[in-house]
Amino acid sequence: MFDEINEKQVIERQRLLSDMLGVSGNEEKVVQFIISEIEQYVDKYWIDAHGNLMAVINGQKDHHALLLDAHTDEIGFIITHINEKGFAYFMLMGGWDERVLLGQSVIVEPEHHRLHGVIGALPPHVVPESERKKPIPVEKLFIDFGFRSKEEAEKMGVKVGTVGTLYSGFQELPGGLLKGKAFDDRSGCNILIQTLINIHDKEIPRTTCFSWSTQEEVGLRGARTSAYFLDKKYNIEMGIACENTTAADVPGVLPQKCPSILGKGPVITLVDSSMIASKMVIERLIKVAEKYDILYQFKVPSRGGTDAGAIHLTRAGIPCGVVSVPGRYIHSPCTIIDKNDLIGAIKLVTGFLLDFSSD
Ligand SMILES: [Zn+2]
Repeated sequence: MFDEINEKQVIERQRLLSDMLGVSGNEEKVVQFIISEIEQYVDKYWIDAHGNLMAVINGQKDHHALLLDAHTDEIGFIITHINEKGFAYFMLMGGWDERVLLGQSVIVEPEHHRLHGVIGALPPHVVPESERKKPIPVEKLFIDFGFRSKEEAEKMGVKVGTVGTLYSGFQELPGGLLKGKAFDDRSGCNILIQTLINIHDKEIPRTTCFSWSTQEEVGLRGARTSAYFLDKKYNIEMGIACENTTAADVPGVLPQKCPSILGKGPVITLVDSSMIASKMVIERLIKVAEKYDILYQFKVPSRGGTDAGAIHLTRAGIPCGVVSVPGRYIHSPCTIIDKNDLIGAIKLVTGFLLDFSSD
């Protein structure tokens, strides 16, 4: 179907994408990296007012086009106050599992240099017995960057408005598993980059538009404007959002409550809280998976939403689907995925584009 995918290159790209800081509204570094990966292959690329990166590969028929989307942002925090001793208070950006915050490492990059810190709270010894077992509200947490004063924080560029996120380094675990931060949705970013590389020198039936969209984690915002523009200009026939979704194949979860499983292939969404996936898109994805022997699974009980929720309501409506890489501990700083699911998702989306026909 297409050239062998260079697995090492995909994993190395996943490492680089995962390590980058790109909190909602501050996705520039991720966007610059993606440009460096794709610019030699695309017919055209540009960045819009919201920081969305869009690219186009021309196909044989130009009266309709297909759209692939992934979001560049990750969940994080914004600093709201720094006290006289240099401790920083913060507001969360995006849907964190708040139970994971205390004691975590964090990063900020105020002036192109990376600073590390730790999320602290009152030590248990000074907390009244009755409160020790309760979760600590975010307002009572603070970040300790090691500053001794507010002045020192400011001298290092850390001030109100500085954004950052919880940090954990990228690692390869046994059995082909990968661990890192921001796999939601740098996995999708990676899928789009590799798919673009796979198809750029092939004769594709449809012009393909790519949108690396901003601000998904705070309400599917970037994709709203990129999809509008692309549909108006290219007449989008179908769209797919590429994502990282919840896997819950861990102890204590009933099979009927488990949205997806690591190692069982890319996940095709049927329905989530932002969209009922288009039957036409689902059928095409299944056809491609079966033709090329790509393992796949359906996402079962599904909360949450994706950029497809915004895209499918664009202008007169765009039939949409979602293809995701399953990930354990999503929306924490340590997500685990299976590299074979990532490769499978790339194959599925590439096949969708190469095999596209109107019949
Ligand atoms: Zn996501």
